[in-house]
Amino acid sequence: MTLPPLPELLGSLHVVAVPLRVPFRGIVTREVALVRGPAGWGEFGPFLEYGPPEAARWLAAAVESAWEAWPEPLRDEVPVNATVPAVPADQVAGVLARFPGCTTAKVKVAEQGQALADDVDRVAAVRAALGPAGRVRVDANGAWSVDEALEALRRLAPYDLEYAEQPCARVEELRDLRLALARAGVGVLVAADESIRKAEDPLRVRDLEAADIVVVKVAPLGGVRAALAVVEACGLPAVVSSAIDTSVGIAAGVALAASLPRLEHACGLGTVALLGGDVAEPSSLPRAGVLPVGRVPADPSLLERWRATSERVAWWRERVALCHNELLRSHE
Ligand SMILES: [Mg+2]
Repeated sequence: MTLPPLPELLGSLHVVAVPLRVPFRGIVTREVALVRGPAGWGEFGPFLEYGPPEAARWLAAAVESAWEAWPEPLRDEVPVNATVPAVPADQVAGVLARFPGCTTAKVKVAEQGQALADDVDRVAAVRAALGPAGRVRVDANGAWSVDEALEALRRLAPYDLEYAEQPCARVEELRDLRLALARAGVGVLVAADESIRKAEDPLRVRDLEAADIVVVKVAPLGGVRAALAVVEACGLPAVVSSAIDTSVGIAAGVALAASLPRLEHACGLGTVALLGGDVAEPSSLPRAGVLPVGRVPADPSLLERWRATSERVAWWRERVALCHNELLRSHE
C-alpha cells in the first residue's frame, strides 16, 4: 500500500466531534479524523479505547481511501437495511417509517432487562410491517448462551428470519449453536459480526463452521482491498457494515459492497442517520432503500462546523503519529 510521510498525512488532517442522536457504546459524541489525499477523502475513526496495533488498520483504510483507487465497482448502488432498536412492538412502525424503501430490517434482540417475549413481539411487528416479501434479521450482539439462543431462535424462526447475527459471543459457541440448530431442525442461518475484527477471523469462523455469513467492516480490516481479499479467502457470503461513520467512511463501505462478486444481503450502511451532524452535504442517507456508489468529499464548512477542540485535535494527531509508526514497522 501507499503510505504517505507523516507530515503529509498530518498536513491534511481535520478532526471533528459530531453529536450522536442516541448514545452508542456509552458515547454521546463521535470523534473522527478526516484526511485528504490525491484520490479523495479518507476517514480515521477507531474507537477511543483502541490501541495503536488495532487502530493502525483503521489508518491503513483511511490512507487507502485518500491515496489510492478503490477496486472497480460491479454495481452502481447498494441496498441497505433498516435498523430497529430494542423498542416496544407498538413503536416498530414508527421506526421503520424512517427507512423508506428498505425491504430488509435488522432487529435488536436480547437486550438487557427485556424478556424473550419482548423480542418475539418486536420481530412479529416487524414481519407484519414488512410483509412476507421483506427480510427480517435479528442481532443479539453476542448476548445469548448457546441454550438461550437455541430457545430464542426456535421461537423466532416462525417469522422467517434472514439470519441471526452474533447470537452468542464466542466463535466456539456459534459453532455449537449451529450444530444444535441443525439437530433441532430449526432452519435459521447464523452470521458472525463481533467475531470478525481482524483478517484471520473470517478464516477461523469458516474453519470451525461457526457461521453461514460474515459481517465485514472496511476500517478494522484495513481497507476496501484488504476486506475484499478477506471475504474472498473466507468464501462465505458477506454483509458489509459500518462503525458509526460519517458519510466519508460510509462511502468506503459502499465501495466494498459494490466490489463484492456476490452481494445477496442488504448492508448495514444506513447508519449516518444515527449522527446529529455530518461532514458531507448531502449526507449518505439511503433513498428508496439504496445508497449510490461513489466518492463522497468532505465539505470544508462542515469540517469547520464540527471541528473538535484543540486539545482533542492534538490527541488525534499524536494517535495518527503512533499508528503511522505502527504501519511503517509492519511494512519493514
Ligand atoms: Mg451486529
